Amino acid sequence: MSRFFLLDEDKAAMAKHGNELDGSHKWRLPGVRCHSCGATWGTVGHDYPSVDLSGLPEHDEFKRPRPEPFAEFARLRELVRPLVPPDVSLPPGTTFGPLVGRASGSFGAIDWLGRICLLMRREALERLHAEGLRGLLGCRTELRFRQKAPPELLELQVAPRGRLHPDCMPPGHPPPCPTCDRFSLRWPDEPILDAATLPTDLDLFRLGNFATMVIGTERFKDAVLRLELDGLTFRELPTR
Ligand SMILES: [Zn+2]
Repeated sequence: MSRFFLLDEDKAAMAKHGNELDGSHKWRLPGVRCHSCGATWGTVGHDYPSVDLSGLPEHDEFKRPRPEPFAEFARLRELVRPLVPPDVSLPPGTTFGPLVGRASGSFGAIDWLGRICLLMRREALERLHAEGLRGLLGCRTELRFRQKAPPELLELQVAPRGRLHPDCMPPGHPPPCPTCDRFSLRWPDEPILDAATLPTDLDLFRLGNFATMVIGTERFKDAVLRLELDGLTFRELPTR
């Protein structure tokens, strides 16, 4: 049976490097103001830095973060659909394109932005690729560094796949909204992974119904620790 680990930032490594990083992705779907459930919301963690919207005549409509009524959100989503793989869910707030922003200071092998985006030095990613790890897609960033000779930081595009098991959600938790698919859930204290939904072809992924949780396989954890790539902590999660 495979083992899976929840990734988080390593505060000791962060304190040692002491960098500053601030940025956001170039394009995004708007949030939604839903007429069915009454919520105004956008998701976090559905990021596709490899997807380039610059060829869309309407690309300016994807720049400003804002909520839109569901029909307008759905119109914009259909414009993007041909540019992403067919199984991608594209919730409100999904982002596209490179991370644009500012950075300064020293960086370790692996760093986080907002505990959600994973950034990796090119050398570190190449070493993990050489270990045969699957599903690590490094994407260029457009970060502006203050110092000379900055590191080359790539953002990992981490596919949302697999789900949390209903057993770790509060009893009677409402199903997703039939219109906007909003599924509101607080971070569970004891997350459990739904074994039947977990990918077998990836060593790194986000949970599809909880995309701020980044999950690595045992192979991923072992390779990171063996290569002494700093920046991550690992917490094993049970599967059911
Ligand atoms: Zn709704």
